Amino acid sequence: MEIKVASDTKSKSKSDSKGAALASSYDSQIRPLLDAVDRLRNLKVMQEGIQLPTIVVVGDQSSGKSSVLESLAGISLPRGQGICTRVPLIMRLKRDKSAVNPQMHLEYQDKIIQTTESGITAAISRATDEIAGSGKAISNTSLTLVVKKTDVPDLTMVDLPGITRVPVQGQPENIYEQISDIIKEYISPKESIILNVLSAAADFTICESIQMSRQVDRNGERTLAVVTKVDMAPVGLYEKVMADDVKIGLGYVCVRNRIGDETYDEARVEETKLFETHPLLSKIDKSIVGVPVLAQKLMQIQAASISKCLLDIVKKINDKLSFNVHELDNMPTNLSNVADAMRAFMKVLSCMKETLKKILIQREYDEYPDDFNMHGVARIVEMLTQYSKELPLNQVMISEGEFLMEEIKILEEAKAIGLPNFLPESTFKILLKRKIDEISHFPIEFVKKVWNYIEDVVINVLTRHSDNYPQLQSSMTRAAQNLIEKMKKQSCQVVQGMIDMERVGAYTSNPDYMMTWCTLMEKQDHFMDLLHDHSKPSILDLGRFGKVKVDHLRQQQKEMAEKAFDLRMRMIAYWRSVILRLVDGPALHILYNIQKLVETEMDNEIVDEIAGHSGTGLERMLEESPSVAGKRDRLRKSIELLKESKQVVGRIMDRIALLDD
Ligand code: GDP
Ligand code: MG
Repeated sequence: MEIKVASDTKSKSKSDSKGAALASSYDSQIRPLLDAVDRLRNLKVMQEGIQLPTIVVVGDQSSGKSSVLESLAGISLPRGQGICTRVPLIMRLKRDKSAVNPQMHLEYQDKIIQTTESGITAAISRATDEIAGSGKAISNTSLTLVVKKTDVPDLTMVDLPGITRVPVQGQPENIYEQISDIIKEYISPKESIILNVLSAAADFTICESIQMSRQVDRNGERTLAVVTKVDMAPVGLYEKVMADDVKIGLGYVCVRNRIGDETYDEARVEETKLFETHPLLSKIDKSIVGVPVLAQKLMQIQAASISKCLLDIVKKINDKLSFNVHELDNMPTNLSNVADAMRAFMKVLSCMKETLKKILIQREYDEYPDDFNMHGVARIVEMLTQYSKELPLNQVMISEGEFLMEEIKILEEAKAIGLPNFLPESTFKILLKRKIDEISHFPIEFVKKVWNYIEDVVINVLTRHSDNYPQLQSSMTRAAQNLIEKMKKQSCQVVQGMIDMERVGAYTSNPDYMMTWCTLMEKQDHFMDLLHDHSKPSILDLGRFGKVKVDHLRQQQKEMAEKAFDLRMRMIAYWRSVILRLVDGPALHILYNIQKLVETEMDNEIVDEIAGHSGTGLERMLEESPSVAGKRDRLRKSIELLKESKQVVGRIMDRIALLDD
């Protein structure tokens, strides 16, 4: 798609006939584009998240933003020292040859206020007060000013509050944040053209507005600078503009706005005179000075930007439209009898079950590709891994205190030092019970954590699938929560049972136990050696179970130490079986119960709650909830608007295709 843009002012002034030709091509090609965009803006497609090409005026406070707009429009706007522009002002200038007298009106908050050239300032101030209050506060609700005149450039621009660091009296403390949020919202979309208004006297490199626009447009590709007040600070301006220290991609235009009581025509004459005669200002190339040049440039940039964005806009409108149509299709139809309601309810249930099966059993996460918290099996496995790491596997490493002292104490308590090599069963049990008690909170915590997580996931899925029946949501949620609470309690009981069994019984059929114990006991002679012979090192190496200090045992009875050693080695060997059981048991239990929950329990519980003996849930489904009705309404309106927008762009695209032929 190629759109010819009226060329610059120089060629226009060369010959009148060429000028007329350009004007007519402008009328036939550019104006319809502008009208189309204006129409879209009027339709408020921006509310649908579709950005339109827009010229956004930014600048530090009192840099001359409103004055530049005035110069372009040839009408007076509120201006002066301090903050005058307190709401975004969308200014639509329309060249209209038939408008004998300038016509203008304000649009805001669904109101249209007709006004006149002399009344405009007061009308804008009134509207601003109405939107933002009569103080110095600002607001993000925009105000649209439409101006139709014979001699204005066709432009749509947004004037924004100027950036100020220091709140004045009556302004909120965070005025800077408020203003910069509004500015960012307008200049961030890549469809926006940034018109950066800089006072000639300012150091461009430290202007707030430059810093802000560079955040969203690093290389200045969509930034145009207007330098105002050249009459007040002509010295060094030429050099500043030439140096372009602040990277303005679309170039600079220097202007002199109206001063005092001058008329706009007088102001233009004075401006021309200034740039022709001033010893410093006359050095600046004529292609970058004066309000007419600025107007011409803006129109070119605007047309180019529109033609560049149009295809994208068409695509976005289409995408949004089909998305909304799909949403509307998926909204529930109004249910008229209990059978309908039952069908709809069963559908919600089966969708829920399907999703839960996928994420909690089958490891299929296509419905939540980026929401990792909903990748159920993966998250549960993660919790399991973490849990098994928390459980200490090696009794040598975890036992606190000096090596074997705990065992010796237990043996002394048991007073069972009778026959050599005889190890009373009770001492092992006592030790085992102690060790199990130390870790008994881990399995319970693990089970609770998993069920809490499952509750999150289930509620999330339930809410999503029952979104269209808010009247059921709270009872369904309650049913699910009750059920999960019940299952959590049961799990805790089962796992507590597993712990109790470990505490009481000491049994394993795992051959690893005997093997490990035998390997460890091979060290016993060496251990006794170390105790007898004080010249030997005082560290015993237990291979993969680590090293221990033994010098404190040298003053103990040798027979006692020997028995304690045996006791500890049995514990080390046996402990491995205990831990494996305490990991595998709860894990299998949890996996089995999740399956039970998803496959049968959840359905039963929810059906009981909604349609069971006392449930009136299905009847409740027959009345549509206000929020669903609201959503349906919103979707319908949005679809209507998008269809209309589609027609608007469709017509303009057809025209462009015709012109291209
Ligand atoms: P805004 O806060 O950026 O909208 O700034 P205004 O447009 O309200 O201008 C601030 C002041 O600077 C006003 O008093 C204007 O009259 C004055 N001003 C703006 N442009 C020029 C200019 O080119 N020359 C001179 N001498 N004064 C200007
Ligand atoms: Mg202003």
